[in-house]
Amino acid sequence: MKQRNILPLVGAASALCLPSLVRAEQPNIVYVFPDQLRNCSLHFWNDAPYDTHTRCAADPTFTPAIDAFAAESVVLSEAHSTCPVSSPYRGMMLTGMFPERNGVTLNCMNARPESTLAPDAVCISDVLAAAGYDCAYIGKLHADYPTRNNPQRPGTYVVDGDEVWDAYTPPERRHGFNYWYSYGTFDVHKHPHYWDTEGNRHDIDEWSPKHEVDRAIAYLNNENGVRDTSKPFLMMIGMNPPHAPYSSTEDCMEEDYALYRERSLSELFVRPNADTTMRKSRSAAYYFASVTGVDREFGRLLEALKERGLDRNTIVVFTSDHGETMCSHSLQDPKNSIYRESFNVPFLIRYPEVLRPRVDDLMLSTTDIMPTLLSLAGLGDRIPASVEGRDLSQALRGCAGGERPRSALYIRNLNGKRDSDGMVRGIFPEARGVKTDRYTMEIAIDRKHAVKRILLFDDANDPYQLRPLDAAAHPELMAGLCETLGEELRRSNDIWYRERILAEMIPYEK
Ligand code: CA
Repeated sequence: MKQRNILPLVGAASALCLPSLVRAEQPNIVYVFPDQLRNCSLHFWNDAPYDTHTRCAADPTFTPAIDAFAAESVVLSEAHSTCPVSSPYRGMMLTGMFPERNGVTLNCMNARPESTLAPDAVCISDVLAAAGYDCAYIGKLHADYPTRNNPQRPGTYVVDGDEVWDAYTPPERRHGFNYWYSYGTFDVHKHPHYWDTEGNRHDIDEWSPKHEVDRAIAYLNNENGVRDTSKPFLMMIGMNPPHAPYSSTEDCMEEDYALYRERSLSELFVRPNADTTMRKSRSAAYYFASVTGVDREFGRLLEALKERGLDRNTIVVFTSDHGETMCSHSLQDPKNSIYRESFNVPFLIRYPEVLRPRVDDLMLSTTDIMPTLLSLAGLGDRIPASVEGRDLSQALRGCAGGERPRSALYIRNLNGKRDSDGMVRGIFPEARGVKTDRYTMEIAIDRKHAVKRILLFDDANDPYQLRPLDAAAHPELMAGLCETLGEELRRSNDIWYRERILAEMIPYEK
């Protein structure tokens, strides 16, 4: 692969900084985030100079477009999804606020009426719209509580049944997005549907990422006058694959599956923490095929930007809402855990002439994304006071003195109690944890707030997290990590901090 333009970060931070460069035009922002794409499924992590940063084997995938994009980008090895499930990620990414403030504490569905993006939460799209941007949202949103607002059948949900996940987002809940082609959540990958800006429903018989990139290119081309071409634009594309299901060629493209179908389990599973006796192991070939398909569609979007001369003045981000455990540690849950395959996410950002391509171990967390992007776009003075994340743009630019977080917070919430109507009220904050440059530590509690389990890993010596350390045998290490966790919980005004949960272990006061 090409390796020109890749500079090592260590010891060269200030040399990378280009603070004097001021763009004459406001940059466009393109934010692409397929769902459930684990960082180690990007092929380039197998190659120098990336391989030394993860110390792990990456999956045997084909991702040529993303590999080429990486060579033009700042590639973060240590970006993490603070609460690695769909809706909480989206709430945090859009608002820069933690779940309890932005409203999205649990995955949105009809039995969780309290978990929804707060109408008054200021989103990145609200800020950019006010700053003169045209704002487009394409694909999966899943940040909205489903209500009986089906525009095609008033008074009903958009699907029938007791458990409703999908949702229609009406204009007053679109947070500054003036172009809309989206849905809540729906997992039939070759028969997706979308509601457009006017609320018309489109049922499509095509693999959803391909269709969404076609819509994105139509938006770039301003077909039917959908955007104001005198304005810079924000375009967010929430692709659903490689999200489950991944069990047949109904879920991915045949041509991509052909790359993996002849491979044995030992060829597909290169991470030694994978349990290939799990039934789920049959999904790996389809999952990797979905990753390759996403790669091709992302590549098509990049080509379209280039052909229209939009690549130079556009910030492009490729990331995901969380990872996929894919048989690691025998876990049934693909996400919602602190294990690296779930918690660590891709984060590649390209901004020509402003960001020098390199791989960087900057610890970026979900709430940092919104303020960092606004600042990179020259709108740092418009970061809302409600934002709880950090502006890491100086560090991304490689400037000396730019904030470089030393830890990443992990959050796992479960349903609170149910009321007499079966509705979930509140949350049960089951686990909190931290990742540092060397360690991963998680504390889970029972409903009486007693310690149920502690996970502790030395990632430097055990990158696959195969050998959990006994917390009781490492009191000094645990004390240090609990201090870091206490700082993170205080900074995020988390419910563990407010209720002083496990105060005998976690030092909450400064
Ligand atoms: Ca998700």
